[in-house]
Amino acid sequence: MAANDTAVTRAAVVRSVGSPLTIEDIQLPPPAAGEVHVRMAAAGVCHSDFSLANGTLEQLVPAVLGHEGAGTVIAIGPGVTNVRPGDPVLLIWSPACGGCWFCLHGEPYLCEQTAKAWQRRYAQLPDGTPLYAGLGTAAFGEETIVPSSAVVGLPPAIELEGAALLGCAMLTGIGAVINSANVQAGESVVVFGTGGVGLSVLQGARLVGAEAVIGVDIAADKEELARANGATDFILADDNIARRIRERTGGRGADHAFDCVGGATTIRQAWSSTRRGGRTTVVGIGAKDENVEFRPQEIFYFARILGGCVFGSTDIARDLPPLLEHVQAGRIRPEDLVTNRIRLEDAPEAFAQMNAHKGGRSLIIY
Ligand SMILES: [Zn+2]
Ligand SMILES: [Zn+2]
Repeated sequence: MAANDTAVTRAAVVRSVGSPLTIEDIQLPPPAAGEVHVRMAAAGVCHSDFSLANGTLEQLVPAVLGHEGAGTVIAIGPGVTNVRPGDPVLLIWSPACGGCWFCLHGEPYLCEQTAKAWQRRYAQLPDGTPLYAGLGTAAFGEETIVPSSAVVGLPPAIELEGAALLGCAMLTGIGAVINSANVQAGESVVVFGTGGVGLSVLQGARLVGAEAVIGVDIAADKEELARANGATDFILADDNIARRIRERTGGRGADHAFDCVGGATTIRQAWSSTRRGGRTTVVGIGAKDENVEFRPQEIFYFARILGGCVFGSTDIARDLPPLLEHVQAGRIRPEDLVTNRIRLEDAPEAFAQMNAHKGGRSLIIY
């Protein structure tokens, strides 16, 4: 391919909010200054992709979604210094500018510039209509073009299919345990929702040596998957779930709860399932139109902590190297999140499975 050529690649396109994904040929320009052209190896289908496609989260369209992926650099634009052609890379949907107040105060996951990176036009349809890159990365295509801040090099020995899952589910879930909640060995942990992120929270809890690790889901067939990812116990969610969790955690409640659903009901249940002084970490992204209610007196009495968690409070430079070591040593197992290895053409079906609360991660293999 000559440097000035437009590349044609297949991608899963969202033509309009709420419409099904369609597999189409799209045109990628050569990488401009500061951009990187990546051939994808694998991309996980995250619940946030589903929320962007159906309008729960805002997305400019037409767009190519996908923000949890790994691949190999094909070409770089002028001025790119962090990666070279041939390098294995992980896509980063939450690039940090390094210069804003949050970046300068050790909170790059709250970078003021990140949302701008999600409004990129990066490619076009054959009729010339510009395409937006979902969360800046557009991993649901055989190839993509991203800013150099949205890729980070991976060790040559890493297996790219598993590494793809680090990009959202695992950095978020394990970061939630280690960075956001600071779970300690011997503590008890309950996890509401056992999708890709929830399963990663379970693996993170196992990694840090949490003693009781309880998975909660509304689907009974998630039990085996939850246990394979580190749950020592599994409870099917019902109206009495908080009481049942307290019964299994010394009558006090869990030291930590993680809500990986983002629903008003599950946040409330998670909070009520913790002990006095316990912590609830909200990892899931909820809807705009729900409210969670607390009585002022119970906030005082229980002295519980309720905190939000964006991207596992992750600092890529600090957190990715040890995570890769855990993966290579087998202490963290990305492949255990995956229940469906699919082709790009099956991405629409992966959304349907997600809507039906079936399975763990679907992983597109290119
Ligand atoms: Zn995600
Ligand atoms: Zn910043």
